[in-house]
Amino acid sequence: MKVTLLGTGDAIGTPKIGCKCPACSDALRGGRSRRLRFSVLVESDEDEGKVLIDTSPDLRWQLLKKDIASVDGVIWTHAHYDHYAGFGDFHRVQRHVDVYALKGTMDYILNYLYFLKPLRHDVSAYEPFEIAGMEFTLFRVDHPPTETVGVLVTNGSKRVVITSDTTLEIPEESLDLMRNADLMLADAIMPPGYNLTKHMNAQEAMELARMLGTKNLQLTHLSHLYPPHEIALKTWPLGHDMMEIVL
Ligand SMILES: [Zn+2]
Ligand SMILES: [Zn+2]
Ligand SMILES: [Zn+2]
Repeated sequence: MKVTLLGTGDAIGTPKIGCKCPACSDALRGGRSRRLRFSVLVESDEDEGKVLIDTSPDLRWQLLKKDIASVDGVIWTHAHYDHYAGFGDFHRVQRHVDVYALKGTMDYILNYLYFLKPLRHDVSAYEPFEIAGMEFTLFRVDHPPTETVGVLVTNGSKRVVITSDTTLEIPEESLDLMRNADLMLADAIMPPGYNLTKHMNAQEAMELARMLGTKNLQLTHLSHLYPPHEIALKTWPLGHDMMEIVL
């Protein structure tokens, strides 16, 4: 299985429009602090298929960079703009895309995208389903007040966990699914020291990974409030855009 971090930024991305902080300056110079909004591409063994987890507002550039003209499915974790708004970029590129989400999330997103007609698959949390030879299980996390799920992807013996946007208050039933992942992509919007009510900071995400026995942790959904990427990397395992992890 191959996992590509198409976008590791938070809702506003880095650089933030108009900001000249160290991370934004690095991003403007083309450094790795530059972050598109959140999307992850998961590819199954032996090229059986591709699944997009979330469709960020930057999706067009992400698909161009990876030369992807079609996918076998799209999974939406929640109905926040930075996680679905780029879906329209499929329009006239790929029709009838299979899309998967909880019912409430799906209702909200397809209302916004009323002019598109993807193939809707309402799924339930904790009930596995299959796309392109990979098994996916959505599990509830805590991102108040919005219904939000993380995603467990299983392909052969490998397990990948994507927390989506969440605080540390993850239900026990979900934590059980998240244990011993070969790779975890975890929301860590800010370094420690900020008061967060909807997200984890880097320290919390690292504690979660340790508690769950995660083999490889990459932090994502990152804001411009970190130091520039190469400096921040000395303290936290930050992912970067277009990072590929082969499992
Ligand atoms: Zn988000
Ligand atoms: Zn900035
Ligand atoms: Zn969110």
